[in-house]
Amino acid sequence: SLSTTSSRNTGNKERSDWKLTAYPVMEHFYTIQGEGAHAGQAAYFIRLAGCDVGCWWCDVQESWDASVHPEIAAEELVDAACESGSSIVVITGGEPLMHDLTALTEGLHEAGLQIHLETSGSSPLTGHIDWVTLSPKRFKEPLVEIFPHVDELKVVVLTRKDLIYAEKNAAECPAGTLKMLQPEWDTPESVPLIVKYVKENPDWRISLQTHKLLNVP
Ligand code: SF4
Repeated sequence: SLSTTSSRNTGNKERSDWKLTAYPVMEHFYTIQGEGAHAGQAAYFIRLAGCDVGCWWCDVQESWDASVHPEIAAEELVDAACESGSSIVVITGGEPLMHDLTALTEGLHEAGLQIHLETSGSSPLTGHIDWVTLSPKRFKEPLVEIFPHVDELKVVVLTRKDLIYAEKNAAECPAGTLKMLQPEWDTPESVPLIVKYVKENPDWRISLQTHKLLNVP
């Protein structure tokens, strides 16, 4: 939830700089946030392309190769988000922190939008983010520098090992971090495991991919 850049750019030159900065984008669209603390809220999603984490169960593997996706200027993304009428923008991926988010978040904030980030934390944190959701992956571990900025920890669970991994990461997060366990969609046997764990450890909550349940695109 804290900014990582030293100052906000307010001069005209910097303004035009953020507009022209382009990002590889797999898709951007207005929908309902399906997961985590803000599930059920309308939000504009910007799915940046490129990921070097390599989760074998990843459901957006087409995002991995940034070079096959178009580069879109921050100005166009900000305009699209504004036109949607949404007050929240979710920057996701792929792994969005493979890109310097300074320009994009500058533009979104100038437009008065709240910025949520979904990240594995495995690349350096950039830009001004209002709500950081850390979804750590053992395939490429979070950098320690992300932990002080985490608002919500969301751990995807396939097996019991992931519950231990969740606690290990939670121990690094600030007090008051929302702690969520999310069953991996194609691993239904993780559900009873999580239900039992949350009943025994009520400081954790369950995050469901409600957009998939509801068939919200
Ligand atoms: Fe897929 Fe996210 Fe894992 Fe990257 S970090 S491989 S986008 S689940």
